[in-house]
Amino acid sequence: MIILRKKDLEREIEAVPSFNNPSETLEQYVTPSDIAADMLWLAYMANNLSSKLVFDLGCGTGRLSYGAALLGASHVVCVDIDYDVLDEAKDFLEPRVSVPVSFIAGDVRESIPLREVRTCTVIMNPPFGVHLRGADIDFIKAALLICKTVYSLHKVSKGLFNVLSRVARESGSTFEVVKLFEFPIRWFLPKHRRKVHYVKTVLVRFKRKY
Ligand code: SAH
Repeated sequence: MIILRKKDLEREIEAVPSFNNPSETLEQYVTPSDIAADMLWLAYMANNLSSKLVFDLGCGTGRLSYGAALLGASHVVCVDIDYDVLDEAKDFLEPRVSVPVSFIAGDVRESIPLREVRTCTVIMNPPFGVHLRGADIDFIKAALLICKTVYSLHKVSKGLFNVLSRVARESGSTFEVVKLFEFPIRWFLPKHRRKVHYVKTVLVRFKRKY
């Protein structure tokens, strides 16, 4: 399949299942298809997806992985700590994409023994770090060890940009704000009164120099 318009990409991504039985501890919130399509399209237009090895850390049911494959990635690596979710991603993606996709079960917070073998890009929507404080930042650190170009979606909080600047400095990278999104979270537990809650998020792009 050849995707020519962002709207078509969004429609494709919409078909990727949400989490069946989402875990609060793992912060399993699926990326809405319009936000996922926007993230991927921005990376695509910046020439960071086509013919690239693409990593999706905390890939969940595989929305970003699927979109990256449709936009011409040469190989996609979908990494998640949750085996069941990886199985779902595999069941959905394998019959639909023509490029190789690897499914790796692993904890991104532990050192992942993957390193760039050629130009690669990470595109991810990691846990927001609300339940597991700092998980979002651990994901960026892991991503920057693997690839020189990293797109990552984060919950905006007081101090986020200071932390991002520090991570950039320590990893020899620069980072820029690409786009802000209002991210709808459909709470799944009774303690959350409102059904949909909007969280301010920011898509950032890191570039590691060496
Ligand atoms: N990227 C997906 C899912 C986002 S939710 C999407 O865009 O729809 C965050 C994902 O990170 C979940 O699938 C969760 O299982 C995974 N996750 C949480 N902690 C993790 C860890 N330490 N290592 C790897 N994956 C993790």
